[in-house]
Amino acid sequence: MTTTKLGVHALVFRGGTTPDEISGILAETKAAGYDIIELSLHDADNLDVARTRDEIAAAGLEVVCSRGLAFDKDVSSDDPAVVARGAALLQESLVTTHELGGRFFTGALYSALGKYGHALTAAGRANVVATLKDLAAEAKTRDMRLGLEICNRYETNVINTAADALRLADDVGADNVDIHLDTYHMNIEENDMAGPVRLVGDRLGYVHIGENHRGYLGSGHIDFPTFVHALADIGYSGPMTFESFSSAVVSPTLSNDLAVWRNLWSDGPALARHARATMSSWIEAAHAS
Ligand code: MN
Repeated sequence: MTTTKLGVHALVFRGGTTPDEISGILAETKAAGYDIIELSLHDADNLDVARTRDEIAAAGLEVVCSRGLAFDKDVSSDDPAVVARGAALLQESLVTTHELGGRFFTGALYSALGKYGHALTAAGRANVVATLKDLAAEAKTRDMRLGLEICNRYETNVINTAADALRLADDVGADNVDIHLDTYHMNIEENDMAGPVRLVGDRLGYVHIGENHRGYLGSGHIDFPTFVHALADIGYSGPMTFESFSSAVVSPTLSNDLAVWRNLWSDGPALARHARATMSSWIEAAHAS
């Protein structure tokens, strides 16, 4: 059997990360049977890091942190001041992840999360590479790894496909930078659901499972069995984290960046239980055949 650990994004349960919200998130993550909670750091100002670290440990959960940047804190900008603010936010977020007990920091670590009005510039790409070299070096001193989450064209102009991400990781040239595939983004940008998995191969470090509309698994049209079979074929045994968003659970910031306008579900705990059972079933089948 596979050793795949299953995770869930905190926005399935709560919109922010105040102490009360964290307690609810962790209780519901545990109740739904997950191994990993993924916390977005978009609400880090309200996060009580020491208390959250203790609660995560007490719950027996692992934590992964994720984030995107913002247009005024963007390491893919041509403006050195904007790049510097983005780089500082990344370093701060890496430290927060470490202090929470996390070993993996991922997301759109290379740009704002939003629609760009232009293509990535050569200078902007050079700024991304230089920033990620520094971030990877700092992560290494903390025995941590970084993920480059590949996002669709409406959320970044830096990496939209697995091939883009591999080129970027090659240019960063650090051995603690992994590729992070997300089925929701793949559905928009890739030719199919298996090719990118094989292309990334053993450089795959993290996976987001999301439907084409980011609602209930199975209520959309993504070919998950093909994707999960491809993961089995390359021997992927890393985490698989469920990501879903609905206007029923809103973050004042992240939900707008992700264009969460619709109600796709109201009961986060029921959604999470269903997703865990569904992912387990796919994995079992992929490894049996
Ligand atoms: Mn994702």
